[in-house]
Amino acid sequence: MKKRRMLVHVCCAPDALYVMDLLKEDYDVSGFFCNPNIHPEEEYRLRLEETQKVAQTLGFDLIEDEYDPENWFDLTEKFKDEPEKGRRCDVCYAMRLERTAQMAADGGFDVFTTVMSLSPWKKSKVMNRIGRMFAKRYGIDFFEADFKKKDGFKKSVDLSKQHKIYRQDYCGCIYSKR
Ligand code: SF4
Repeated sequence: MKKRRMLVHVCCAPDALYVMDLLKEDYDVSGFFCNPNIHPEEEYRLRLEETQKVAQTLGFDLIEDEYDPENWFDLTEKFKDEPEKGRRCDVCYAMRLERTAQMAADGGFDVFTTVMSLSPWKKSKVMNRIGRMFAKRYGIDFFEADFKKKDGFKKSVDLSKQHKIYRQDYCGCIYSKR
């Protein structure tokens, strides 16, 4: 049976390594690197290059979105003092999930999702609620997930060590770096 086409928002190589391998069992997956939140640009380029290596290893296409940090700063400015997992993060998830939904709808994909729920520092319920909202808006299915379950995060740490993949020590934005 032909697999459904899934566009997966990927934020970094370690998360992509575990989640894309899992999803490609059941879906025809492509990755979408949409992360204007990452600061500074050198860090963005490093995470992109590492994710490209993972795409090559696992054999999936990786689409890079435009890197537009100015727009991201405009969207999140008023929440700059929020703690991690606060409202700034909700805006940040929403921005990236909406871009993924748009890209998936334009590209004729059947379904979209994100790898971000793998992280213990990310709120899966909120991401799933946002994903459902954009699924409705763009007329495309959303795959709800909480990839950190079943030891997902630990498995991704082990896998990235095995593959010598760079693992960042902050979420991505300038506020999380501080
Ligand atoms: S901490 Fe992470 S999820 Fe939250 S706003 Fe910064 S980059 Fe986005």
